[in-house]
Formats: sequence, C-alpha cells, structure tokens
Amino acid sequence: MIKLIDSYGRQINYLRLSVTDRCNLRCVYCMPADGVPQVSHGDILSYEELLELARITVSLGVEKIRVTGGEPLVRKGIVEFLARLAEIPGLRHLVLTTNGLLLEEMAEGLKAAGVQRLNISLDSLQPAKFAEITRGGDVARVLAGIEAAGRAGFPPVKINMVVMRGVNDDEIVDFAAMTLDRPCSVRFIEYMPTAGANDWQNQTVSGQDILERIAARFRLNPMDKGEFAGPAKDFRIEGAAGTLGFITPVFGHFCEECNRIRITSTGMVKGCLFSESATDLKPLLRASDSEGLEKLLRDIVSGKEARHRLSPGEAGHRPFDMSKVGG
Ligand code: SAM
Ligand code: SF4
Repeated sequence: MIKLIDSYGRQINYLRLSVTDRCNLRCVYCMPADGVPQVSHGDILSYEELLELARITVSLGVEKIRVTGGEPLVRKGIVEFLARLAEIPGLRHLVLTTNGLLLEEMAEGLKAAGVQRLNISLDSLQPAKFAEITRGGDVARVLAGIEAAGRAGFPPVKINMVVMRGVNDDEIVDFAAMTLDRPCSVRFIEYMPTAGANDWQNQTVSGQDILERIAARFRLNPMDKGEFAGPAKDFRIEGAAGTLGFITPVFGHFCEECNRIRITSTGMVKGCLFSESATDLKPLLRASDSEGLEKLLRDIVSGKEARHRLSPGEAGHRPFDMSKVGG
C-alpha cells in the first residue's frame, strides 16, 4: 500500500480524531458561554464509523492516533471505543487529549483500554483564574486527575498551557517549576486565532518570550528529539525531574515537519488546523465505499498546503472553532 505523502514530500502518519464537539467546560477561547450549537445526532459519526476511518487511515500509513474533542471523556462508551481502537493492527501509538476533569474516575479504565499517553490541558494553577478561563471549572479536579493518571500507571503526563498575555502569563514560572519535582512535561503553547480568541494578536506571547522568562529564573538545557516527538522544542531545568516544551504555531511555525491530518466528530477531514475548507467523509463512509475514501484521503493529503499564514505580518486566517476541529 502506498503511504500518504503530500506534494511537499511530507509523510502523513498522525491522525487527530475528534470524537465529540461537546464539552464539560467552556474555555473562553474555545467555546461560547452557552456551548456550541447542538449538532444533530445523525451528523456525529458513530463509534463504528470512527473505527472504520481509523482502520482505513492506519492501512494508509497512520501510526499514531490522538483522540480529542470537544472533551473526549464526556462521550458515552468512550473507554470501550478506545479499547477497540487500540486493537487496530499497525496502530503503534494511541494517545488522548483531555481537560482532565473526569480523569480521577476514568484513568484506570483508560489505561486498561490501551491508551498509552495523556495530554492534559491546564491554563492556570490558581482556582479563581482557572474558573474564569474555563467558565466554572475546578482546578482541584484536574490536579486530582493528573495524580490519578500517575497511579494508573501512565507515563508522565504532558500538561499543555495556552499562554495568554495579561491572563495567565504571570504563571509561566509557576508552571515551569512544576517540573522541578514531578516527572511531567509542561508545554507552553502560543495562543492561536480560534473563534473565542477575540484579542488573540495582543494576547499571544511568543515561545521565545516564554522561554526567556523561564531562563531568567532557571538554567535550561536543550533536549534531543525522540521519534514522534511532535513540534515542541524541549528543555529541562537543570536537575529537574520533568521537562519543558515550547509549541510555537504562530511565531515559529513547524509546517515543514507536519505529519498530521484531522478528522472531526462529524466526519469532516482537514489537512491543516487552519485550512478554511474541510471535506465531508460521511457520504462515502455511509455508502461503505472504502476505495472512494482512500482516494479522497489521498487527495486531501496531496492538497495540503505548504504552511499556514499565521505568522506576524501575514494575511492570517479567519478564526476557527477549536472544539469542532479538535485541538
Ligand atoms: N477538551 C480537551 C482539552 O481541552 O484538552 C481536548 C480538546 S481542546 C480543543 C484541545 C487543545 O486545544 C487544548 O489544549 C486547548 O487548550 C487547545 N486550544 C484551544 N483553543 C486554543 C487557542 N486559541 N490557542 C492555542 N490552543 C488552543
Ligand atoms: Fe472544552 Fe477543551 Fe475547548 Fe476547553 S479547550 S472548552 S476543555 S474542548
């Protein structure tokens, strides 16, 4: 089988699969206060359909699937679905992104299902600020979820912090300090133009700026990249148990290394988070036309643009709905 390779020679081996656009939080940059408009039940892919798409993409060379959302853990039956996903021959890495709210109860089940690693989104360690950013979330539950992931036997979690100037950038050093005695990986992400990110150009803080603020306080050593390491540039504070990562979609795009495609919970495929168009896989999926789906996926991959135009001074992009696309 010929693998998925785009017209710039990039091999696509990583699928981000969104299983729902619902969420138990309402982060200000991601969702409107009253949630996303309800998608009709028939438009959401069933687990069977998601599994079929996963099988096809794996047969085309996808080796890593990240399950995301919305909040993946709110979809009923998610653990059983993940167990079936984990059984797909040829899939080497099954990982999940979550806001962590339900992890305390679900971590053991997720581990037993075969999820190999967890990314947890956490933008503030201060209860009042966390509640403000998430419109009502309880940071203690997320922290309890992180502990539960460790007890369940997961490798050290990746904690993703979206840095916003004037909102949580005063906590950059506190987040970095979490790695001093915990073996977790804290990753700082540049704020991107999602639908709720109204003032993103003023609020986004460059990875370089974040790094300098941490380097003013701690001695940082750069780390080598492992296989499937992703776009983060990694460092370790001297003597720390954990590591730091910097993900710079805005000021230091990593498009030349892009190896991913995205499929939403309604079966729309996107070659890039920032592409303005998405293609509906449902008609072919529901007609059980595997050959047609393979061809369509190849076409999407061939049509992947060289890079996004998000960097300062460029034309930019219209804001998009992260809860639908799957971050
Ligand atoms: N609900 C899960 C969670 O929050 O981890 C998974 C889905 S969420 C859409 C995935 C990731 O996208 C989260 O880490 C979130 O912080 C990130 N995200 C959403 N909007 C963003 C933005 N404007 N800039 C950077 N990251 C963003
Ligand atoms: Fe929900 Fe994740 Fe979006 Fe926050 S970032 S509203 S947790 S989907």
